Amino acid sequence: MPETAPPDAAPPDPAGSHAARPYVGSAETALDHALPDTANVDAAPVAAIPASAANKSGTVTAAVCRAFGGPLTLETLRLRAPRGTEVEVTLGAVAICHSDIAFARGAWGGPLPAVYGHEAAGTVTAAGPQAKFGPGESVIVTLIRACGQCAACASGAPVACADPQGPADGPLTTPEGGAVYQAMACGAFAERVVVDGGQLARIPPELAMETACLLSCGVITGIGAVVNSAGLRAGQDVVVIGAGGVGLNAIQGARIAGARRIVAVDLTQAKLDDAAAFGATDGVLADVPAPWQAAMAIMGRGADVVICTVGSAAAYRDVPLYLSARGKVVMVGMPPAGAMAEIEPMALAYSGHRLIGSRMGDTVLARDIPWLVDLYRQGRLKLDELVSRRWRLDQINEAIADTAAGHARRNVIVFDR
Ligand SMILES: [Zn+2]
Ligand SMILES: [Zn+2]
Repeated sequence: MPETAPPDAAPPDPAGSHAARPYVGSAETALDHALPDTANVDAAPVAAIPASAANKSGTVTAAVCRAFGGPLTLETLRLRAPRGTEVEVTLGAVAICHSDIAFARGAWGGPLPAVYGHEAAGTVTAAGPQAKFGPGESVIVTLIRACGQCAACASGAPVACADPQGPADGPLTTPEGGAVYQAMACGAFAERVVVDGGQLARIPPELAMETACLLSCGVITGIGAVVNSAGLRAGQDVVVIGAGGVGLNAIQGARIAGARRIVAVDLTQAKLDDAAAFGATDGVLADVPAPWQAAMAIMGRGADVVICTVGSAAAYRDVPLYLSARGKVVMVGMPPAGAMAEIEPMALAYSGHRLIGSRMGDTVLARDIPWLVDLYRQGRLKLDELVSRRWRLDQINEAIADTAAGHARRNVIVFDR
């Protein structure tokens, strides 16, 4: 990997897999359709609680982006009550993902003012009349919003939903009634959110919120890239480019799936040490002239799967060089919109290589979250170790700066109750 591709410093990170769609047809686009709950189809409906009773004040403190590249400002906004299948969740924790930073810097556009934040967990405090959640339930909040009706949803790929947008009038406004964009259908840099019930997954109440929130993006993006997108089989060899928050989860996904060799590639020994703690069998420093040769020497052959978690177009130029014949590159890290990477079609065609894009780990919440929660409880999935530091909402700009500097695995905003 070239030196121009710092794994974690370059936004967006893979979790940015959600970048492609969310602001297309945003709050500016009028789409008024029902959003059936696809992620909790096996959940028994619970009695709806009057939204107006639970959402007493109707106001919420949120970190608002008013200018790309500027600091977020803490403001009091109005948060309307949930309707239909929507649910209000009072947040316990929200992690900072590189995608939030990319959005706040303007890398992917979108309306302003906006509230980012999409890796959250909390407790249900109000629900619309058709919602399948009730007060007091512990949930994670994700940006995976799916219609449940289109061909992609019907074939088990809700992250590729053709019609994922919510109602035109999002739940957030200024006190004067001005539009505020609920970015990524979450707007979770705030004390509470109103989202579609299909974006939620239940978690055990004893799970700490600061731990659980990581399941909403970084964990499913990394593990899902290996298990769902690549379909890794036991005994295969894996290279993971970038050992940041998502890369570490790709590494532990490969360990859980039974990979033979798991080779982490990153720029610093500290990151490689992190990688080893999450299950990497070997590490290669990325700043040597041909790191793929070092990786192949370890594996004795090319990799069956290379997971690229780096948000740098330059990194993508080299990833096929790590592959064995018929190997797969899984593209998780998302460079800024418009950035291009060259490949050699002849080499890929001759070798039978596959290039696979992976957004949100091709996750199906109802299937994957109970699985991951069980692994965590059995001690087979590391979550607590992903938290670098805890912050308050009023420290969010410091927390973002720390994440942007590339040192953190995950910085988590914790809401005191
Ligand atoms: Zn994310
Ligand atoms: Zn759909």
